[in-house]
Amino acid sequence: MKRTKIVDLFSADMLGKEVSVKGWVRTRRGNKHVQFVALNDGSTIRNIQIVFDLAKFDEEQLKAVSTGSAIHVTGMLVESMGKGQTCEIQADMLEIYGGADPEKYPLQKKGHTLEFLREIAHLRPRTNTFGAVLRIRSALAFAIHKFFQERGFYYLHTPLITASDCEGAGAMFQVTTLDLENPPRNEEGKVDYTQDFFGKTTALTVSGQLEGELGATALGAIYTFGPTFRAENSNTPRHLAEFWMIEPEVAFNDITDNMELAEDFIKYCISYALDNCRDDIEFLNEMYDKELIARLESVLKSDFVRLSYTDGVKILEESGKKFEFPVYWGADLQSEHERFLVEEHFKRPVILTDYPKEIKAFYMKQNADGKTVRAMDVLFPKIGEIIGGSEREENYDKLMQRIEELDIPMKDMWWYLDTRRFGTVPHSGFGLGFERLVLFVTGMTNIRDVIPFPRTPGNAEF
Ligand code: ATP
Ligand code: MN
Repeated sequence: MKRTKIVDLFSADMLGKEVSVKGWVRTRRGNKHVQFVALNDGSTIRNIQIVFDLAKFDEEQLKAVSTGSAIHVTGMLVESMGKGQTCEIQADMLEIYGGADPEKYPLQKKGHTLEFLREIAHLRPRTNTFGAVLRIRSALAFAIHKFFQERGFYYLHTPLITASDCEGAGAMFQVTTLDLENPPRNEEGKVDYTQDFFGKTTALTVSGQLEGELGATALGAIYTFGPTFRAENSNTPRHLAEFWMIEPEVAFNDITDNMELAEDFIKYCISYALDNCRDDIEFLNEMYDKELIARLESVLKSDFVRLSYTDGVKILEESGKKFEFPVYWGADLQSEHERFLVEEHFKRPVILTDYPKEIKAFYMKQNADGKTVRAMDVLFPKIGEIIGGSEREENYDKLMQRIEELDIPMKDMWWYLDTRRFGTVPHSGFGLGFERLVLFVTGMTNIRDVIPFPRTPGNAEF
């Protein structure tokens, strides 16, 4: 008999039919006459209850059906008398694929802390919480492709190994095949990277943007969606050393178009999750964050505030609020500042624009005031910065002048400058940290809990 996924037992009209299910046991309880097993197969947060009549099954055999074991059951799907479930399976065949020693299997009872579950990240997908988070994560990834593909954007694969060290987005992980114990040296006694795999120093990418601009100035509109690496030693609940980033880049878009794209994009993803992951979001709303659904719906309803950095700083200065980090014009805003604007002052998402050029990247378009650049950060409740982007400086001379001012090593960047030498156009783009979106949609509070296997300083287990 063909296996039915548990999610389909609840949706399809299968009552009164013989079904076959396979999955992992969550709990078993009962008495000498009847045993109840809650089975989950990952297809939904909901378990199917399986009823074993001990007239038909051996009590000893059922003992092996312990929490965490994998089983195959066939039986009749019937309406359930018990509360909390609509249907159950009256078992008539049991096959045990693999037991799970109750003395050793770590996920015995509900209510483990998220911290403990991080230590067993290899097993935590089997919990309700991580099942829900990972299904939502998968749905969001699909929504992202759907959003861009429906709008004629091309999915561009930018390299993960890069030789440009001037992206300026964060510290990089070096990639080398040299023998670190005994590297080749040049005449000056320095490590001779001409003998390295690529003949020069290389590192894992911190952003696909620069290559993304090459794509956009040929295909018109592209997006990237891939792993990104930052060797920043920031142990915060919002930073990972390996995270996934989505970076759309669009020729002929100015900063206003860019803001509209960002707002439409985030709203599309959130509403996709609400429409397609209702059970999982309701579970997280119930268990972790009673305001989750209300917050998601409120973001969908609200127009994002658009505000200049200068006005934002004024609001912060005049707020009279004591911040841990001081605010003044020219300061890089901290999460506490961003969240004050969003959560307390405006009570909706804010797009902050036109930042001082000193705190933003060299490629951002310079404003006529000579002080600010056409940057935009999208700030979200609970998260702070969820998107960072800008209109790009398309003028070759202005870009070069900035590169010289900042003393950026451009010897490996001739290809990037060619976008400004040949058929340059206004263009804009942004980067969305995928895990920050997943954080927002799931209501989780630590970024380590929205990626299956987090990489953070000192941690690359699993
Ligand atoms: P932050 O100020 O929060 O460190 P950033 O300004 O360095 O972020 P950008 O270079 O603008 O980040 O990257 C674009 C987006 O990527 C950010 O808006 C954020 O959503 C995400 N992001 C950046 N760094 C990380 C990280 N270490 N872990 C997870 N997501 C990140
Ligand atoms: Mn940023």
